[in-house]
Amino acid sequence: MTKQILIVEDDPAILEMMAFSLSNAGFQVVKADHGKQALQQLQNQRPDLVVIDWGLPDFSGLELVTMIRRDDVLQDLPLIMLTARAEECDKIKGLEHGADDYLIKPVSVQELIARIKAHLRRAQGYQDSKQLSYQGITMDIDAHRVWVDEVSLSLSLTEFRLLKLLLENSEKLLSRERILNHVWGHNATVEDRTVDVHILRLRKALKPFNKERWIKTVRGIGYQLTCH
Ligand code: CA
Repeated sequence: MTKQILIVEDDPAILEMMAFSLSNAGFQVVKADHGKQALQQLQNQRPDLVVIDWGLPDFSGLELVTMIRRDDVLQDLPLIMLTARAEECDKIKGLEHGADDYLIKPVSVQELIARIKAHLRRAQGYQDSKQLSYQGITMDIDAHRVWVDEVSLSLSLTEFRLLKLLLENSEKLLSRERILNHVWGHNATVEDRTVDVHILRLRKALKPFNKERWIKTVRGIGYQLTCH
């Protein structure tokens, strides 16, 4: 099935160049040259992935990323940010707001296509299998069960949701805000500290298997599931 990519970019030359290359690579391309139009396209079309430029005329690419992540329907959409800025703190900011990946301009089209394919494969994998696993941690989503090194683990609903989010995003940085929105919903009135409390409980559950240190605290941002 042809995958649809939404490109949000206000520079017409770059927009056309990317649209042309992605069409040639077999993708169906939808374009937007400002944030509002991107939101309209997201409602009318159902893209499989969105490429978002950092600097847009109406609101910033970061704001757009934040809006998508707060939307119940769109929140899991793979997002790749493009930016002319190369500073490390900007990269962190992009990831912190919920972008899945980050490319610095001028973007190599080959690189962009490779990243798009990787993120689509990843998203497809989650849709196909009802099981998530990472380094000996296995989750059966439908049966609501978790095993660590083949030992069954009993978790509260909140810890289950939290671990599910971590498994779906293994190796990725998850901001506290994103965790809150996913696990508790963005209308919930819970404090940031709530995330830390539940992370602590999850670590405790993983401790007998010596895997508690895999939930890394990334200071000032949030958490990351990684065995590295
Ligand atoms: Ca721009």
